[in-house]
Amino acid sequence: MRRKGLAIMAVQTVEAHTGSSVDLGPAAALSCRECGERFELGPLFACATCFGPLEVAYDLPSGSPDELKKRIEAGPDNIWRYAPLLPVPSDVADKPNINPGFTKLVKADNLARELGVTGGLYVKDDSGNPTHSFKDRVVAIAVEAARAFGFTTLSCSSTGNLAGAVGAAAARAGLRSCVFIPHDLEQGKVVMAAVYGGELVGIEGNYDDVNRFCSELIGDPLGEGWGFVNVNLRPYYGEGSKTLAYEICEQLGWQLPDQIVIPIASGSQLTKIDKGLQELIKLGLVEDKPYKIFGAQAEGCSPVSAAFKAGHDVVRPQKPNTIAKSLAIGNPADGPYVLDIARRTGGAVEDVNDEQVVDAIKLLARTEGIFAETAGGVTVGVTKKLIEAGLLDPTLTTVVLNTGDGLKTLDAVAATSQATATIRPSLDAFRAAGLGTS
Ligand SMILES: *Cc1c(COP(=O)(O)O)cnc(C)c1O
Repeated sequence: MRRKGLAIMAVQTVEAHTGSSVDLGPAAALSCRECGERFELGPLFACATCFGPLEVAYDLPSGSPDELKKRIEAGPDNIWRYAPLLPVPSDVADKPNINPGFTKLVKADNLARELGVTGGLYVKDDSGNPTHSFKDRVVAIAVEAARAFGFTTLSCSSTGNLAGAVGAAAARAGLRSCVFIPHDLEQGKVVMAAVYGGELVGIEGNYDDVNRFCSELIGDPLGEGWGFVNVNLRPYYGEGSKTLAYEICEQLGWQLPDQIVIPIASGSQLTKIDKGLQELIKLGLVEDKPYKIFGAQAEGCSPVSAAFKAGHDVVRPQKPNTIAKSLAIGNPADGPYVLDIARRTGGAVEDVNDEQVVDAIKLLARTEGIFAETAGGVTVGVTKKLIEAGLLDPTLTTVVLNTGDGLKTLDAVAATSQATATIRPSLDAFRAAGLGTS
């Protein structure tokens, strides 16, 4: 019933903002992931017929793969190099946007040695984005959709990183922002969401409560003219995650990795990385070969992992309780699609407990000099666990995602990451502390 209400509201909003004048580059329409029905491009997120989620359908570029590769490689060092494959206008690179992407793909040989991986281990380090998480990718696309549909306020329900990304992107684009977070987030995320000068509202409840509140706001005059990046702009927003797939393959020399380990909050990122890989195969930009997609959750919020292990097709909601707050969505919208992808590709969904998350953050920092937020601890911890369980093949090329920056989740490791010693500034004191060479 609730979904039906949302769908009708979405249809009403769309009448105010669509038209044939909308220019979102190669995006041709929205299509329902369940029944395939197509709709005109607009701020629409649920199918008017079956209430299934909508996604962007494209007229993808024709012509030779080599020409397209050259065009991409000559583009800017950010996600706009892939503009021909994204729902954005062709002059997107000239507009005020935060221009995320083209983050480092780090060959993690030290970590590989520690984990016994011989086939090549890489960390895709998205902490290098403008607001230090992967969320800049999805928000950058949503900003272009918001502009195209004439929204003047940018909003979202956030587990933390999204609020900061929306605040920054709105500031750059000259839009107003009002973002919503659970009231008890890490200080680094709260400050980061507030500093860009938009409105930040803490909601007394968890992310699922925040999300429900935003769904109500969309149907109310109070939210009139607002683009919620992960609700009424969700089909566009989601497409930003495809750029992770494009970058990983380009950075591997236009090759598919054999295995990818991806964190799951709503599951959007994982499903869109798969969509991106499929597009590259279809366009002939990479050689078609099997790849496996692995999903990673924290034990304290593991509804998808639990469903995977139980062999279920539906995901039973959970009440989150984990330090991996950026992944703490108890009722993940894309959960069933994640299950499909993990099963279709021969991957798996696994979870690790908070102690293992902390250990994995420190392992990655100690071996590769990368300080991940808790979500990165989840993927590295799950990678280790999957290797030990024999589910992830250490002889194959493996990419592990780090989607956020450890500076935003200092509390996770603060207790066990302190000064080795505090001493007077003298050599005697240094010696007495047992430090130095001799
Ligand atoms: C939001 C987020 C994710 C994953 O989000 P999805 O909802 O699954 O797309 C992963 N890592 C971090 C750090 C995030 O903030």
